[in-house]
Formats: sequence, C-alpha cells, structure tokens
Amino acid sequence: MNEHVIPKTRPALSPAVERWLASERAMLIDGRWVQAQSGKTFATHDPATGDVIANVPEGDKADIDLAVKAARRAFETGPWARMTPSARGRLLHKIGDLILEHADELAELEAIDNGKPKVVAKAADVALSADMFHYMSGWATKIEGKTIPISALAAPGLDLVSATRLEPIGVVGQIIPWNFPLLMAAWKLAPALTTGCTVVLKVAEETPLSALRLGEIMLEAGLPAGVVNIVTGFGETAGAALSGHPDVDKIAFTGSTEVGRLIVRAASNDLKKVSLELGGKSPNIVLGDADLDITIPGCAASIFFNHGQCCNAGSRLFVQKNIFDRVVEGLTAEARKIKLGHGLTEDTQMGPLVSQVQYERVTGYLASGRSEGARATCGGEGLGGQGYFVPPTILVDTKPEMKVVREEIFGPVLVATPFDEVDDALIAEANNSVYGLAAGVWSRSQGKAQQIAHRLRAGTVWINCYHVFDAALPFGGYKQSGWGREMGQAVLSNYLETKAITTNLG
Ligand code: ADP
Repeated sequence: MNEHVIPKTRPALSPAVERWLASERAMLIDGRWVQAQSGKTFATHDPATGDVIANVPEGDKADIDLAVKAARRAFETGPWARMTPSARGRLLHKIGDLILEHADELAELEAIDNGKPKVVAKAADVALSADMFHYMSGWATKIEGKTIPISALAAPGLDLVSATRLEPIGVVGQIIPWNFPLLMAAWKLAPALTTGCTVVLKVAEETPLSALRLGEIMLEAGLPAGVVNIVTGFGETAGAALSGHPDVDKIAFTGSTEVGRLIVRAASNDLKKVSLELGGKSPNIVLGDADLDITIPGCAASIFFNHGQCCNAGSRLFVQKNIFDRVVEGLTAEARKIKLGHGLTEDTQMGPLVSQVQYERVTGYLASGRSEGARATCGGEGLGGQGYFVPPTILVDTKPEMKVVREEIFGPVLVATPFDEVDDALIAEANNSVYGLAAGVWSRSQGKAQQIAHRLRAGTVWINCYHVFDAALPFGGYKQSGWGREMGQAVLSNYLETKAITTNLG
C-alpha cells in the first residue's frame, strides 16, 4: 500500500528565509512589532517533519484589546482617515507589487509552515494574493453612491435632493484558516483596505508565518500604523476575544461551519455585521458524453489540489453509469502518479496534511468509510511515521448516508458514485448537503451542463474546469457554506455601509 518514500529531513532553506526565521517573530500592533502582553509564545511546526520552525507570540484578549484600539484610532484619525481613494489604491497596488517581488520567499514560508509544494504556493497562493491587491486597488476610486429622485414629500418650499454615500464599515476583525494562509489574508485585507476600513487580523495558529511577512511588506509599502494589526494566537482565546469585541464593527471569518456558528453567537451580543466563508461537500457531476481527456485530470485536481484541504474541493463525484468504471480507473491512475514529499523538494506534488489534528481527523474518516463498507481503489490509509501524510484516496461502493459521503473530510479523499440519468433524482442527490459552496459539471453539451448548473444550489459552478479562482469572481456559499461573498465587486458590500443624505434645496 505504501509506495511513497518521504525524506526524513527538510531540504535546505534559502538564505533569505533562513535569515528571517533566525530573527525574533513578533505580532504587528499599531505599526510596531511586539510580543504578547502575557509574554507567552507558541511553536509553529513543519508538518512534513514535525520540527519546530519558529516561536510566535501567543496573543490573547489583552493583545486583541490593544490591536482594536490601534485600529479604531487609525480609522477615526491619522493619515488613513484622510488619505484620498487614489492614494489608497496606489498603496494597495504597491503591496501587490511587493508580494510579487518576494514571491519565492513567501512561497517557501508557505511550504514549510503549511506543507504545500513551494512551486504550487508560488504559482497559486502567492500569484493570486498579489492579484487580489492589484484588482482591489482599482476599486478604491470607484466606490460610488447614487443620486435618488424623491417622490414622497411634495410641498411648497420643499426641493429635495437625495444621494447615497458608501462609507467604510469601520474596524473589522478578520479571522482566517490555515489552508491558504497568505491568500486568505489577501482575500480579507485587500477589500477591507480598498474601502477604507482598518483591520485586526487573527491568523491561524497552525500557519502564522506568511501573514507576518505580509505585515512587513505592507509597512514597507507605506501603510500607516494601526491600519492593519496582525495577532498570532489561538481561536478559543484571541479569536473569541476578537469576534466578541464591543469596539469591532464587523467580523469576516473563513473556516469551519462549526466555528462559524461560534462567531455568529459571539458577534450577536452587539449585533456586529458578520460575513462567513465556511465548509463544503461539493458535488462534481460527470455526464456520459464528457471529454475524458480533460475530465479525468480535472476531477483529480478538483479533489487532490492542496491535499483536498479546500472548502470547495470536488469531494462528491457523480459519474454516469456507462463511463463510471473508466472514470474511476483513470482517476485511480492519476492518484497513484501523485508524488508525495516535502514541500521544498522540487518534484513534490502533494505534501503532508497541516497538523496531527487534521491527520487524525482524515484517517478517522477513512476508518469510518472502511467500517461502513466503502472500498478504496487507491490510498485508504495514512502513511504513519513522521509527518502527516495521507495518500490520495478514492472510495467507491459508498451509500448516501455514510459519514464519508455526508461530512466534509478536508483531505485528499474522493467518494465516487454512479448515476443512471440526468434527472430530478440526480439533482436532488447533488443538492443533498447542508453545504452549498461549489459544484462541477463535465459534459460536451453546453446546454445540458448549463441547465444542471442553474439547478445546483451552490455559490460557484465550474463547467469543464474546476478551481478557477479570480479576484474578479465572487466566491461564497449557499446554505451552511456561508454568508456573503469574497472577491469581485460583491465583496465590497461586506465592508461598506450605505448612508442616504437628503437635502432641502428649497
Ligand atoms: P479548521 O477546522 O479548518 O482548522 P477552524 O474553523 O477551526 O478551521 O479555524 C479557522 C480560524 O478560526 C482559525 O484562525 C482559528 O484560530 C479560529 N477559531 C477557532 N475557534 C475559534 C473561536 N471559538 N472563536 C473565534 N475564532 C476561532
């Protein structure tokens, strides 16, 4: 079963990253790099070897309080509050440029902290992060209200003109996960900044490093003190303090649906605005007429990209009966070709899962699938030993009620099911999930694929492609996959309030 040979030690770091890691790591509060008020730190690990990479401050409520104060001050007074939209846009653009300038270093940090291959981090995470800042920089000067004709009051001496102003919502608390540490920071920070908000960002405890490096880049670009504060710490302490903080106007969260519920409860005390990007169990539907040359690698990537640690992973595959065996065979062959290894080894295509906790969670699902009668055509068990490696796994002979079919595994595990016809039963089964984040359809018939896409209850549907993300495309979930949208013009409303101003000219 175990054909994968994982190197025992980490390949050498670049001099730039080696130097950076040798210096003390701190959090960014009010433009300064500081330790936690408590003086406590915690370690972040390389998930391929289990070795400690660095110690970072363990921020908690006291540090969140300071960060929120700094963000409030920066929002109300100071250079940020007076900066023109054009200057704000140029600043964001510069951050995007600097991300690209430091692409290698950021990708390397992502590889050692998260486990993903450096080449993938550079091509996807880093490139998309830069693009997010570049794209959002253009919106700074285009946040426009409307003039609105008034009919309600017509009386002598009244000559009313009304207009809306879109204003930044204020101090924003942002809480992000570990699966795309830099990119999730970019998805959150860029739209908040382009609208003129200030931010306290709580990064994931598993992967704090790239966001701290991004903090340095943002200061280098000229971001004034207090506009972005970055706190490292745990969810139950720092995260909870931020989501319940009385001086935070809005919480933007990406992570599990379970924690999303806690965030909503914490934010409900003072009815803060909340946006959520949560879990998924996305259906990926292959019709009998699909072009298998693109469908098989596409479906493999839909689940195995980022080790399946994507909220939008195409984790429930439905294949029309006449081609089911061919597709599963093809996917199994693709899965077996994927080379596992350290993220810094050049030919690595899949790294370890991010942590022991995730390893246990994913292998627990594999055990549950086995015990309920599912059969693995490849993979099926964690590699054990050093590092948190789980090989690409495809499960067949599943039943709709099995846990592996119903619940989000967040690992490289696909469940594949045959179907007879494209009919109401297929659509109902595809939609039979508490989630509604994404979906895929593979067919040579554009008409059929579009009709299916319209009936799927999901925020994103990809036809004959998967994982296509763009800063211009809104992304988010139906049902328990979230509230609101990330990216595109749509995300701006997460960070804006609408004010109607009416003047009597008479
Ligand atoms: P995952 O299950 O993918 O690890 P989580 O939803 O647990 O994702 O974590 C995503 C983010 O939410 C992390 O930054 C984590 O620290 C934070 N978090 C976890 N628990 C809480 C909580 N109770 N309140 C606020 N934030 C939390």
